[in-house]
Amino acid sequence: MKLADYTIDDFRTSDEMERAMFADAGIEKTSETEYRVPSSSGRGVYTVKFEGRTEDDFATLWECSCPAFKICKHVRQVTDIIDHVSDQYGMD
Ligand SMILES: [Zn+2]
Repeated sequence: MKLADYTIDDFRTSDEMERAMFADAGIEKTSETEYRVPSSSGRGVYTVKFEGRTEDDFATLWECSCPAFKICKHVRQVTDIIDHVSDQYGMD
């Protein structure tokens, strides 16, 4: 499914929508700030973590355990979902 396929009409709460989107993407939310994201090759799982150290662009506050140049696609996967849910429900 594409991000745009998830709309506010299909979910009762933003949490429910976020959970469904992460589950469909194969992403496991292991804590408030940590996610386990499968590699696209299917050979590994990377840890994406919200560090929140700076006031810069939202995506730069994230770290991923993969060796790719940051911002990597694993961080993007997580932040795109969070951004989409925020857009649908408005900021808390
Ligand atoms: Zn990564």
